[in-house]
Amino acid sequence: MTNKNLRSLPAVHVILKTTAIQDLIPSLGQENVVAEIRQYLDELRSLLSKDSNQNLETSPESIGVEVSNRLATNYKPKLRKVINATGIVLHTNLGRSPMAEEAAKAAYMAAAGYINLEVDIETGKRSSRQDSVREWICKLLKCESATVVNNCAAATIIVLKAVAENKEVIISRGQLIEIGGSFRLPEIMKVSNAIMKEVGSTNITRIKDYEAAIGANTGALLRVHTSNYKINGFTESVTIEELIALGKKHNIPVIDDAGSGAVVPLNCKGFGEEPNPVTSMALGADLTLFSGDKLLGGPQAGIIAGKKDWINKIEGDPLMRAFRLDKMNLAALEQTLLLHLNSSTVSQKIPTLKMLSISMDELHQKALQLESKLKQIGCCDKIESKISEGFAGGGTLPDQQMPTWVVDFSSPHLDTQALSHKLRTSQPSLFTRIKDDKIVLDLRTLNNDEIDIAVQVILNALKTI
Ligand SMILES: *Cc1c(COP(=O)(O)O)cnc(C)c1O
Repeated sequence: MTNKNLRSLPAVHVILKTTAIQDLIPSLGQENVVAEIRQYLDELRSLLSKDSNQNLETSPESIGVEVSNRLATNYKPKLRKVINATGIVLHTNLGRSPMAEEAAKAAYMAAAGYINLEVDIETGKRSSRQDSVREWICKLLKCESATVVNNCAAATIIVLKAVAENKEVIISRGQLIEIGGSFRLPEIMKVSNAIMKEVGSTNITRIKDYEAAIGANTGALLRVHTSNYKINGFTESVTIEELIALGKKHNIPVIDDAGSGAVVPLNCKGFGEEPNPVTSMALGADLTLFSGDKLLGGPQAGIIAGKKDWINKIEGDPLMRAFRLDKMNLAALEQTLLLHLNSSTVSQKIPTLKMLSISMDELHQKALQLESKLKQIGCCDKIESKISEGFAGGGTLPDQQMPTWVVDFSSPHLDTQALSHKLRTSQPSLFTRIKDDKIVLDLRTLNNDEIDIAVQVILNALKTI
């Protein structure tokens, strides 16, 4: 290859000296910058070798600018702040439950330095990391003991393994759910080495179906909350009371996978139907499990509560080492639990509970505020506040549409899909709903201090068209 253009490509060290590149080296480091320059030079060489007459910019300055643009794009953090205007409170793809300030600060404290994770401050001796949350869970659920793992899925695996390895676990056919991400109950049973014994039919399971299935190798009776779907019509299922009574009669442990963990009674539609782990403990279930980041409103965690002997067995399982919670989540979970212990303030302190119980009046006020601010910036069309329907999300209250207030609008210059994409890719990112070809902002998940930011994001997106 001897054509002139190829030979005229500048050397790496020359490009490195250009202003655009020099500005980036302190933050990205020379190695990354050199790698990107080499890669771009390779691309140029390959283009020129195909057609040497191409009109490509090959001065060191223009290459420097192009490489610095690429670096700025490639090294942008992938995780960014999202303003959630979808109205879905427990939005799993948006990180599910936002945490209370106290919990977030505890996570920061644990992350930024050392904490007494596994040491008893009094004696200086080694302790269990579970001691930081065990007592609080026991106070909250009025149970004998408790332990925590990474999430409720991990809790299900370790509980079934500890209680029913190589034994039959009796479960209703109507409760063989998929949690999401192709994580299905029959597969969890396999991972735990429990033998699944299905009883009843999809829509009807009676207590006598469970009783008939009990045999010499029965390890547990399992109730799984069908959190993310509902069967309507001709249906019958067994209550946790009946299942616990049956377990007692035959001396078989009863496990309640409560899923969402509705510990606090909330004044919100359909909430009463969510299984309450406090109730299942009071009724005498051997173990109950639920997520830390659904209706508890804390960090990702799987909480396991119940009889001390079972908790000891679970903590002795080799899987515990793999499933144990890290220091940041433990610190945040402890604060979340402490907030729950004050029942008069919990629904105001925990953002998830606050958003779910916010009144229509308050939502209306917020909607009017947002509507007037959008009208002021003067770049949106057909701005209206109105009553609409939203969802709790996160596999919670699946068939309960919750009335809410929204503001919707469209753009005179951009179609709704394109605008939605533009808002989502903004900095910060703004997630919205689309309905009737309009962008919909739901006030339930939009904090007071996020209203102005959302308006600014919309203004920026529309003024740059
Ligand atoms: C959500 C849910 C799970 C999974 O919980 P993660 O914390 O997301 O792992 C398990 N069981 C039920 C019934 C659920 O609702």
